Amino acid sequence: MQFIDLQTQYAALKPEIDRRIQAVLDHGQYIMGPEVRELEERLEQFTGSKHCITVASGTEALLIALMALGIGRGDEVITTPFTFVATAEMIVLLGATPMFVDVDPSTGNIDASRIEERITARTRAIMPVALYGQPADMDEINAVASRHGLPVIEDAAQSFGAEYKGRKSCNLSTIGCTSFFPSKPLGCYGDGGAIFTSDEALSKKMREIRVHGQERRYHHTSVGVGGRMDTLQCAVVLAKLARFDWETAERQRKARRYLDLLRNAPTVTTLPPKPGRTTAWAQFTVLCDDRTALQQRLSEAGIPTAIHYPVPLHRQPAYRELGGGEEYPVASSMAQRVLSLPMSADLKEDDQQRVCSVIANGR
Ligand SMILES: *Cc1c(COP(=O)(O)O)cnc(C)c1O
Repeated sequence: MQFIDLQTQYAALKPEIDRRIQAVLDHGQYIMGPEVRELEERLEQFTGSKHCITVASGTEALLIALMALGIGRGDEVITTPFTFVATAEMIVLLGATPMFVDVDPSTGNIDASRIEERITARTRAIMPVALYGQPADMDEINAVASRHGLPVIEDAAQSFGAEYKGRKSCNLSTIGCTSFFPSKPLGCYGDGGAIFTSDEALSKKMREIRVHGQERRYHHTSVGVGGRMDTLQCAVVLAKLARFDWETAERQRKARRYLDLLRNAPTVTTLPPKPGRTTAWAQFTVLCDDRTALQQRLSEAGIPTAIHYPVPLHRQPAYRELGGGEEYPVASSMAQRVLSLPMSADLKEDDQQRVCSVIANGR
């Protein structure tokens, strides 16, 4: 059994993926070829966001978004300590400080009700993460942000395809950033990512930052980065879009089945989506008290699992000094209890049954 089954996905899409890759090899425009803009247009239509800018990775998307907002030394950005490191890492890289807010125990997402108390004169942005694919409480977050005139960057690296009150993740705030890392809901075959905004000026700025801050060739109006997404990777994502709606629906069906099969398992607690939103189920993650034992039991039965994430950022050596050395008890407790189970559109029903039976009955 695979944790995320990308082989079956490739087999199903092989003619389209191979054709798309071959087309790039034939035209030879490996950097900023026609597939780049084609993908951006498709993703603008998909999300409803006015502008999509593809970039080298999800990490680069966050970096470029923060740079476009002018965030730097002395600034503070409010975010969650329970996320992949890149979220806080890009804030720190620019000389700013991540100000953590503890998370909601029912989702693992930033606790929106505690953001306002964290805002200071130095706060420059709020950066929620859609953990495991479920958008955070975006209405509440956007409301606090607008009261204080702050932009909101959604780290939607795990939530491409998710919806919040009928709108797509990535199009829920000032800027949305996603990742096409192979195991994300929409993945390429290497690194890739995208930034979304409906703000014309920000979009122009981010396009420039992506290519060394150049307004036109060899004319650099700002300091930027080499942040383009390869044409080949754009071609792979274009091919994968053919099956994406089916895959999202299928992961949601598999998730409902997990929720059902695990309802009476005494050793685990599930994290179903809150009302008014869907999740992209980048991960199907449960909470358990004796994680080491459960992970061991599953591993002995040939079932792969993963931990997202074992150490919250405020406990990481590189970050623990930054947030004021405070404790975030919900994030810390979740980090000790979360376990992600095999999940993908191609997860076989027998395999899923077996995962649940090992969890519930020990075999
Ligand atoms: C994967 C991920 C990123 C980084 O994306 P890359 O494409 O791997 O750089 C950032 N934030 C979160 C929450 C992620 O899951």
